[in-house]
Amino acid sequence: MTARRTKIVATLGPSTATPAAMRAVIDAGVDVVRINAAHGDAAAHAAAALLAQKAAAEIGRPIGVLVDLPGPKMRTGPITGDSVRLEAGEPFTLFARPVDGDATGASTTVAGLGTMVRPGDPIVLADGQIRLRVLGLDGDDVQTEVVRGGRLSSRKGMFLPEAEHQVEPFTAADADALATAMSIRADFVGLSFVRGAEDVERVRALLPKRGYRPKLMAKIETRRALDDLPALIRASDAVMVARGDLGIQIDVSQVPLVQKEIIHACNVAGRPVVTATEMLESMTTSPLPTRAEAGDIANAVIDGTDALMLSAETATGAYAADAVDTMARVARAAEAWPRMRVFPDVEGIHVDRVAWAVAHAAVEAAQDLGVAAILCPTRTGATARRVAAFRPSVPVAALSQRRHVRAGLALVWGVVPLALPGAPVPSHEIYQAVEVARAAGLVETGELVVVVAGAPGPRAGGTDTMRVLRV
Ligand code: PGA
Ligand code: MN
Repeated sequence: MTARRTKIVATLGPSTATPAAMRAVIDAGVDVVRINAAHGDAAAHAAAALLAQKAAAEIGRPIGVLVDLPGPKMRTGPITGDSVRLEAGEPFTLFARPVDGDATGASTTVAGLGTMVRPGDPIVLADGQIRLRVLGLDGDDVQTEVVRGGRLSSRKGMFLPEAEHQVEPFTAADADALATAMSIRADFVGLSFVRGAEDVERVRALLPKRGYRPKLMAKIETRRALDDLPALIRASDAVMVARGDLGIQIDVSQVPLVQKEIIHACNVAGRPVVTATEMLESMTTSPLPTRAEAGDIANAVIDGTDALMLSAETATGAYAADAVDTMARVARAAEAWPRMRVFPDVEGIHVDRVAWAVAHAAVEAAQDLGVAAILCPTRTGATARRVAAFRPSVPVAALSQRRHVRAGLALVWGVVPLALPGAPVPSHEIYQAVEVARAAGLVETGELVVVVAGAPGPRAGGTDTMRVLRV
């Protein structure tokens, strides 16, 4: 059986809180664990990361760690009896102070809501189901009319379509979570509700200039983020199609198409992209997926996603390891579909053209020759990302002596990260790579490999050299 190429991100939570449960989930095929900093405190996050890394070490497979910052998620407050029905045409008040919510009003987590909205503005509640229209203010409280009714339960997501620009995207809670992420040396930090490249650049400016730095993953879940996707993707090290909040901010009918657009834009930019949310939602309470969920996973793979994410399925679900196993099986089957073709449009790429063309040539040669593997000795991971973007049918190994570079590649489709012992010796780099790949069982004596890299010395591109070797 061929190895799975699509990577799996699993969110940690109560269902992975014991060593045995964590081990079962990771063993089922997790490549990156996600700590959702919207829940729990710093000590719990550090403990979860440690437990995951211990389990991965026992299994003998490296994993990446993603810490997802909460971002400025707006919510309505508690509801008496936990849920209530709002009827169209009825008045509804959003209170500035804590109240027990009912059919006439509820509190919100948004400080100064009254200064952010004007009469006539829409307010969306219950993760998109309920729509209000602002009538006016009563002191700091906002009076509205229900335009589209629905069931409102405690602490549900809220969205102000007309006031998005007034939201401070990086909150004090985000700063705390970033500090936790740095202290546990997370490989990735997820940025919630970013609106454009500047939001990513502002967080990047907070990171140390040298040494350890997490990669920044832009979660695409606001309407504004879609305005200039190419710039946002270029500013980010990785991207998440965060379909949950995205489906609140844009009509749900657009979410599948936007998913395809984001994935394509990431593929051509050489940025790893994760497709997230509700992929196996029914498996939080059921041991088997729905046919629609299997279809969703397969279609994301065929769209060209690098990785698939599980949220509640592994964090709080009753069948966490089964969900990972199901995701892995469906993804592997989709990868084997003979008509699957995902290619970066090399002619449309205007940066690093030499590097892209060399990566393309290496993949073509590898497939023409049916080589055992494509080996990418890499300092930053960029060569391996470019090679993988062509979705070669043969294995791709990335060789780096830096743990952090290898962990960063845990998210990239088809890349097997391998450790180079010690610093590479430029003149011997190719032979070191072959030896490591041989030791890992990827190539055997007599087989052909393609080695692709950036050669030392003056060069036109970060990936500029390709060799075919018989091992
Ligand atoms: P969340 O992000 O789970 O942190 O909200 C994912 C999404 O919105 O889909
Ligand atoms: Mn979200």
